[in-house]
Amino acid sequence: MTVSSADTPADRSVEHARPAIVWFRDDLRIADHPALHAALELGQPIVAVYVLDEQSSGVRPLGGAARWWLHQSLRSLAASIEALGARLTLRRGAAGPIIASIAQETHASAVFWNRRYGLAERTLDTAIKSDLRASGVDARSFAGSLLFEPWTIQTGQGGSYSVFTPFWRACTAGAPPRAPHPEPRSISGWEGVLDADSFSSDDLDTWGLEPSSPDWAGGLRAAWAPGEASAHALLDAFLAESLPRYGSDRDQPAQNATSRLSPHLRWGEISPYQVWSATQEAQRGLTGPALASAARFLTEVGWREFAYHVLFNAPDLATRNLRSAFDAFPWPPLDREALTAWQQGRTGFALVDAGMRELWRTGSMHNRVRMVTASFLIKNMLVDWRVGERWFWDTLVDADAASNPFGWQWVAGSGADAAPYFRIFNPDLQAAKFDPHQQYIRENIPEFGTDAYPAPLVDLGETRRAALAAYERVKNPS
Ligand code: FAD
Repeated sequence: MTVSSADTPADRSVEHARPAIVWFRDDLRIADHPALHAALELGQPIVAVYVLDEQSSGVRPLGGAARWWLHQSLRSLAASIEALGARLTLRRGAAGPIIASIAQETHASAVFWNRRYGLAERTLDTAIKSDLRASGVDARSFAGSLLFEPWTIQTGQGGSYSVFTPFWRACTAGAPPRAPHPEPRSISGWEGVLDADSFSSDDLDTWGLEPSSPDWAGGLRAAWAPGEASAHALLDAFLAESLPRYGSDRDQPAQNATSRLSPHLRWGEISPYQVWSATQEAQRGLTGPALASAARFLTEVGWREFAYHVLFNAPDLATRNLRSAFDAFPWPPLDREALTAWQQGRTGFALVDAGMRELWRTGSMHNRVRMVTASFLIKNMLVDWRVGERWFWDTLVDADAASNPFGWQWVAGSGADAAPYFRIFNPDLQAAKFDPHQQYIRENIPEFGTDAYPAPLVDLGETRRAALAAYERVKNPS
């Protein structure tokens, strides 16, 4: 038997000293992180990296509220990684050259990451993977952010789904999602292997992710605690207190009956596998409506999967009507003053204004109210859904490239499995039904019911008729 030179003990120890890079992106956690888990199994030192990429072509720049969240989340991730014995390296710039140069500087033998699903990100990741492999680095990607990889769920004809129910049936008919990976007990860092002086990290505070003048993030700080630990605390509290009543109360914004996990899922501080598995555990012993509530909650998590499935198959979801008939919609010229009134919550329609003010103050809005405010902008103000999508993109802490444009196209009627255009929410009836004691409205509009509250911006009946008339052009393009 011949022994190749790479198999000698000396060479093997050199190989072991070479680090593995774990590239963090939309997965700012250490537990159930498949790329980190696989890298740790190699038994090599870990170089943990985050790249703020505002340069690569096609990658949509983050909105203001998202940047605020990212800052807090990175600080939290860095602390968790340090507590386990390693360090988070921060770099800013185009990800391709940065990852290549870190791999070179550190003599890394492997670069691992969890996948992203937008086209620009996929294109970038594919190029980076093939360049790394060409230079002999073991580059691998993992499934960490979705329960069902979009391309694995196919119709009988091998196509993608455009209707939720059969999509979700196909997802749940197969093998159940895997169990979450445990949290690592330690992470051996690269210190001692590399020269710390020549291998530097940016200082997070120099990235300017947090607003300074003016500092508008006070309400966000009061409403949220970004980071992995808070995500799990929210999930635990939701499962213990609200899961059994989720089905009956989830549409009532004053009831606090939903999980509030969306920004934590957006930034990957918690994985959908962890949510799935903990919900399965919590629903044991539930019966009747409480058990149905748990199923309903998992179905909502399924809508997130569906939004990504749609994004994967329609990468220009944020800019193009999925139903091309909507290209004929005769949007009137944009009334900027009216748009500002909507953005600032001064339309004179209480549920709309409460929602828009909640959004501005906290970076979030209850799902029912997102539907009502979006419907009002599109159908009572006749503003193109893309204008609203951009505002939400800038102001939501959970803004993601799939759920946000998906939600807007759903309300507009132009999207996948969307509400029909002619279903126009009446904001006053919605308020009476879903906020009957005006608790949510009063929480968000201090001057509600006084002379200081604005008069209605539009006539609901008139604008509804105008919207339906405009819709005729979609149905019967000339
Ligand atoms: P829960 O009711 O507790 O649901 C659990 C999880 O399921 C959520 O955290 C979320 O990840 C997922 N989920 C629930 N409903 C939906 C849905 N309709 N579509 C996709 N995922 C869902 N959600 C985002 O995460 N990011 C967005 O940018 C976003 N933009 C939206 C824009 C519009 C116009 C509309 C109508 C909806 C949008 N949604 C978006 C979906 C939904 O409003 C939020 O996910 C939900 O309000 C988050 O609250 P929660 O975590 O308490 O949800």
